Amino acid sequence: MAVKVVVNGYGNIGKRVADAVAKQDDMKLVGVSKTRPNFEAFIAAQKGYPLYVAEEAGINAFREAGLDVAGTTADMLHEADVVVDATPEGTGAKNLENLYKKAGIKAIFEGGEKHAAIGVSFNAYCNYERAIGKDYVRVVSCNTTGLCRTLYAVDKLAGIKKARVVLVRRAADPVQVKKGPINAIIPNPPTVPSHHGPDVNTVMPQWDITTMAVLVPTTLMHQHNVMIEVERPVTKEELLTEFYGLRRIMLVRASDGLGSTAEIIELARDMGRPRYDLWEIAIWEESVNVVGNEVFYMQGIHQEADIVLENVDCIRAVAGLEKDPWKSIRKTDEAVGVTGSLRPPQCLADKPEALREIHYKAWGVEK
Ligand code: NAD
Repeated sequence: MAVKVVVNGYGNIGKRVADAVAKQDDMKLVGVSKTRPNFEAFIAAQKGYPLYVAEEAGINAFREAGLDVAGTTADMLHEADVVVDATPEGTGAKNLENLYKKAGIKAIFEGGEKHAAIGVSFNAYCNYERAIGKDYVRVVSCNTTGLCRTLYAVDKLAGIKKARVVLVRRAADPVQVKKGPINAIIPNPPTVPSHHGPDVNTVMPQWDITTMAVLVPTTLMHQHNVMIEVERPVTKEELLTEFYGLRRIMLVRASDGLGSTAEIIELARDMGRPRYDLWEIAIWEESVNVVGNEVFYMQGIHQEADIVLENVDCIRAVAGLEKDPWKSIRKTDEAVGVTGSLRPPQCLADKPEALREIHYKAWGVEK
């Protein structure tokens, strides 16, 4: 039987998670909750998602706008097995105490909540098993998700001795008209390390990782510059093959006209992705290199999109629908439409046998 899911907080992340849940054959989206009857509420209604309102006092505004309301958030929680909380940062932890514990519902939170307030932090490649059957789990932020995914690949292949990352963060999401900077680069925070390394450690405590971050005037994507000292010898070709085998990583080539975040987003538009979502972490193929025992690469993160996949897997884990991470990951990827690398890396171009093997092992594509 399909697990019943509701989404509380229907903004940037909530609306994407709701659409992804609606595409799964083992889940049923039974409601979304909003505070205001803005354009997103009209679209949710058009999609047939039952609409709930955060507070009783807000219901009239929705009805006056001509929207049908099924009840309040508290009512909605009685209709479901799992709630995904995608409210603004800090609100989720309050909802846990004031709403979810009272309703006795399993809850998934986003990266804006503190790890300590929730207890378990999640990334599908790294620690799916830890979320199985849990009541409350936090899907880590877009940046942390991006780091977890690609560091997972390097760790599996060569072992991470020490990772150092410089993050170039987008200033705001495209819809956030009041956030900046519009003409500055801001060390953010100006202290080292930034919170991203410790956040990766909430998922993978064994990794030695230190991060620094700056904020730049762009809305499209974050960009990371990754430097890793590895434990075992590894070649550039082995790394590229490993990255290629993971569908949530997309190798892109600057020489294909994808030398910037803007061009990568244009690619997602050309692919017909909903809201131009790039669920995969884009790694520039040319940036992957090995110097001595150090691995280097550059990656781009579509901040609004990557964590959507993790939310779906996390629902499957907490609801106990699937114990095997890779079965859940494949199911999610196929239902959402994750496609992985645009084309094989140069080092595999003339190796059709090796390619068929990867496609078969990684994605179950018949040889
Ligand atoms: P958002 O502001 O776009 O959306 C939040 C929505 O929740 C808004 O529609 C708001 O009206 C609504 N809301 C506020 N209080 C509410 C309440 N009490 N009940 C119900 N709805 C309420 O925010 P977002 O960007 O979607 O972020 C949500 C969470 O996802 C945060 O924890 C954030 O840190 C995390 N996150 C955001 C991004 C990103 O790039 N935007 C990426 C990864 C994780």
